[in-house]
Amino acid sequence: ATPTSIMVGTGKGAEQGILFRAGKSLEMAHKIHTILLDKTGTVTKGKPEVTDILVLQNEMLSYAASAEGVSEHPLAHAIVEYAKQQQIPLKSVDSFSAIVGHGLKALVEGKEVIVGTRKLMKEYGIAFSMYEEKLVEFEKHGKTTVMVAIEGQLAGVIAVADTVKASSNEAIQALKQLGLEVCMVTGDNQRTAEFIAHQVQIDHVYAEVLPEEKADLVAKLQKQGKQVAMVGDGINDAPALARADIGIAIGTGTDVAIETADITLVGGDLRHIPKMIQLSRKTMKNIR
Ligand code: ADP
Ligand code: MG
Repeated sequence: ATPTSIMVGTGKGAEQGILFRAGKSLEMAHKIHTILLDKTGTVTKGKPEVTDILVLQNEMLSYAASAEGVSEHPLAHAIVEYAKQQQIPLKSVDSFSAIVGHGLKALVEGKEVIVGTRKLMKEYGIAFSMYEEKLVEFEKHGKTTVMVAIEGQLAGVIAVADTVKASSNEAIQALKQLGLEVCMVTGDNQRTAEFIAHQVQIDHVYAEVLPEEKADLVAKLQKQGKQVAMVGDGINDAPALARADIGIAIGTGTDVAIETADITLVGGDLRHIPKMIQLSRKTMKNIR
């Protein structure tokens, strides 16, 4: 590889909003076989909004929003924002711990509040089976169901929806046309993930994957002899971004993702990815 052609290539990329940390990512990109896309904030806008709530206990939303006020998760922002709109007063939080890939646990005015996934509720022995049908209905419409428990009792369910970026579908079709295998990987539940994947015509979905497991998935695909690119925006994507042959961060994402990645897309338009691969193919052809 001539250093000059690589420099020209990365320069062209930068002009288009594709920032390479080092020339070797540009050299590598034409070999990519599989591309893993995170869902929230990568395929979708990452600005979820509350669409439905099921209140089973007094002040459910106040407890949930107070606890979520400490969290930096996009779902947390949606819930806090909704409570604000509804002019629901917040309570003081005595302690808080994030449960990565699942939700959180907090002490809010002396009461134990648990917010998050079904799995989390199961772990804490909180009964919710009587609402299963309702949950499934939300999820089939692509909504993420956030369950709220107060003092060991299910207190409510908050359904949150995130919409796909206008550019995602076109980007994914372009990647497929370049011959890449396109997959979605997410910590969210299977039904919600499949609804979103269907909208953008992604055929392979890995759902309910924890952050460390995202990196394991990359490693597993690599063991099958595939060169893997991972695209993500969150702290939870960082291990996979580091493990991938090429880690691609969304410019609107977290600092951790950007610092870990080999390439950053300014503004987060996924159409930059097929452009980047074409740029790599062209650059490497000139070299040979
Ligand atoms: P993703 O891979 O889609 O970015 P995460 O790994 O961050 O998702 O989280 C996985 C799931 O855990 C979310 O879909 C949500 O159901 C739950 N979760 C995580 N953090 C929170 C939170 N602060 N409040 C409510 N639910 C949460
Ligand atoms: Mg994300």
